[in-house]
Amino acid sequence: APLLVTVGECLGLVSGVGAGGLAYGTQAEISFGGAEGNVAICASRLGARVAWVGRVGADPFGERIERTLRGEGVDVHATRDPKRFTAMMLKERTGEGATRVSYLRDGAAGSGITPADLPSGLIAGASVLHITGISAGLSSSSRDTVFAAVAAARAAGVTVSFDVNHRSKLWAAEDAAATYQELAAAADIVFAGEDEAEILVGPGAAPELALRLAALGPREVVVKRGERGAYALVAGVAHDEPAVNVRAIDTVGAGDAFVGAYLAEHLRGGSLPERMGVAAASGALACLRTGDWEAMPTRAQLRALRAGGDPVER
Ligand code: ATP
Repeated sequence: APLLVTVGECLGLVSGVGAGGLAYGTQAEISFGGAEGNVAICASRLGARVAWVGRVGADPFGERIERTLRGEGVDVHATRDPKRFTAMMLKERTGEGATRVSYLRDGAAGSGITPADLPSGLIAGASVLHITGISAGLSSSSRDTVFAAVAAARAAGVTVSFDVNHRSKLWAAEDAAATYQELAAAADIVFAGEDEAEILVGPGAAPELALRLAALGPREVVVKRGERGAYALVAGVAHDEPAVNVRAIDTVGAGDAFVGAYLAEHLRGGSLPERMGVAAASGALACLRTGDWEAMPTRAQLRALRAGGDPVER
C-alpha cells in the first residue's frame, strides 16, 4: 500500500482541569499534540499506511507519544534523546472561556532532530512526504532535517506535501516568509490558512492567494478557511468546498484533520472533489471533541456525517 511519511515534533500536553490554572489548581489531564503527529493519526484512522519520524526524550511523555502513535497504527521511527526532555504544552483556563497555552519547547528533544534521524530509504519508498513550517522554525538542525527530507523525496520522485502551519511563538512572519516560500516552491501540495498564505504572497482573497501560491511552483494548493470551508487550485482547476455545518466545541486540530484526510484520500487516488469533501468532513468532525487528535474521525464516522446523520455518537 502507498505510504505517507511525516517528520516533526510531538509535545506532551498537560491541561489543567477546572479553575485555578496550573499554578493553583490540583487536577490536570495529560495527552500529547503536535501537527505532524495529528496528521499521521488522522490519515492512519482513515486507512492510510503512515510512518512518523521524530525525536523524543527518554521520559514518560516520550514513551506515551511512541506508544500512542503505535497504537493508532502509525509506524514509529523515534530517536530517544537521553540529553533532552520531550517538549511540553501547558493548557489552562484563564477565565470564562479563555484558554492559555504555554510551550516548553526551546531546546527540547524535537528540536534536536538531525538529518541522520531520517531512516535511510524510508522516504524514498514513500508515496507522500508531509512536512510543516513548524519543523523549519524549531532549530537549525530541525530545519536542516526538513530540507534533507524534502531533498530525499524530490530525488526519489516522492510527492512533497507542505502545511505552512505558522507559529508566531517560534518565529516572526517576516523572518519565516523566505523559508516558507522556499518550501512551497519545493512542494507538490501546499496547505495554508488565509493568514498564512498572506505571509508568503501578500494580502488577497482565497482564489487570488491560491493563484499566487501556485505560481511559486506547487501543482496543488489548498487554502483553508475555517468555518468558511476551503478553496483548492490543482493544475489550474479550482474547487471551492464549503464547511460542513456543525456545532463546534474545539476547533484545535481541525486543520490537521483536514490535511490528514486530504492526504489519505490522495493515497487512495481520490479525485479532487473526493479529497476536498472527505477533508472538510474530517475537519468538521474534529471540531466536535476536545483534544488535538482524539477527535480524528474514523471511516464510519465520516460515512455517518456524509449520509446526513447525527455525527455525534451518544
Ligand atoms: P488549526 O486551528 O487546526 O491550525 P487551520 O487554520 O489549519 O486550523 P481551519 O481552516 O481552521 O484550519 O480548518 C480546516 C478545515 O476544517 C476547514 O477548511 C473546514 O473544512 C473545517 N473546519 C474548521 N473549523 C470548522 C467549523 N467551525 N465548522 C465546520 N468545519 C470546520
